[in-house]
Amino acid sequence: MSLYTGRFAPSPTGPLHAGSLVAALASWLDARAHGGRWLLRIEDVDSSRCLPGLGEFILQQLNQCGLVPDQPPQYQSQRSGLYQQALQVLVQRGLAYRCSCTRKQIEAVLAQHGTGKARHGELVYPGTCRSAPRSATTGAWRLRTDIYIKNVPLALIKKGDAATDSIVSPHQPDLCTQALLGPTEWLDRRLGPQQQDVATVVGDFVLKRADGCFAYQLAVVVDDAAQGITDVVRGADLVDNTARQILLQHALGLPTPRYLHTPLVLGANGEKLSKQNGAAALDLQQPLAALNQAAQTLGLLPQTGSLAEALAAWVAQWPSAPPR
Ligand code: GLU
Repeated sequence: MSLYTGRFAPSPTGPLHAGSLVAALASWLDARAHGGRWLLRIEDVDSSRCLPGLGEFILQQLNQCGLVPDQPPQYQSQRSGLYQQALQVLVQRGLAYRCSCTRKQIEAVLAQHGTGKARHGELVYPGTCRSAPRSATTGAWRLRTDIYIKNVPLALIKKGDAATDSIVSPHQPDLCTQALLGPTEWLDRRLGPQQQDVATVVGDFVLKRADGCFAYQLAVVVDDAAQGITDVVRGADLVDNTARQILLQHALGLPTPRYLHTPLVLGANGEKLSKQNGAAALDLQQPLAALNQAAQTLGLLPQTGSLAEALAAWVAQWPSAPPR
């Protein structure tokens, strides 16, 4: 079995706050409780949303809390070559295509089909450009979600009515249609069995935007595999992305890590704590107070004493099956 490797992967759009500290602490504790490694990845793939120097600031905040990564942090802004290679693989496998649809055009197609539903303000992409000419040189890149893909390099598996799946040539991906697909299923270590039918709930999602920026979904999947991540521990606000990431792992022939989504800290308005609803910057003159608050969200007992003693006590308390 490969060595437990966990990670904390903040986007440097703001300093750590009480909510992100919960994910940081949980992923650190899980790594330590498993005797594994804990890595830090600064997710600055979309540089237009990131503040300069904030990655280093977050690293410093983590250090103040005694959460020290086992390797120097990696920055997504320096890894676009890897993401491009992955996109190339998907294109070669007939799984990615270019799309120049505007939001208006997508809305019009959805309305025509009577399915003009938006999900979290995002539209379910109806696959309009799937058959666009391969010579298209502009537009975003999207993943085909209408093809059932198993973790078999350079082969697609057709899931039929028969009890057995059959491997079809990667040159004939159309053989397997959406109607034959089942939802993507996975087991969350805290939330239990999960499933999502990405094709109908999300549609063909973006891998690289028209402006050349790689999407979070592609970057995170490539990096988790490249860093040998065995366990993703992150906030429950990200749970909805997991099925998309598993589809991409299958499409690229990459392993699927275990997932654990931690409870969220809610703001005064009952929504997930964020900079928008008043997440105050952490007072790291008092790191133990901030950590005690995060620990409480994770169902751990409050600690006094030194930072090192508190962290050691929480590692010892960390449940093999974390609280619901
Ligand atoms: N960068 C993402 C965020 O800060 C987290 C990514 C992940 O943990 O998969 O929301």
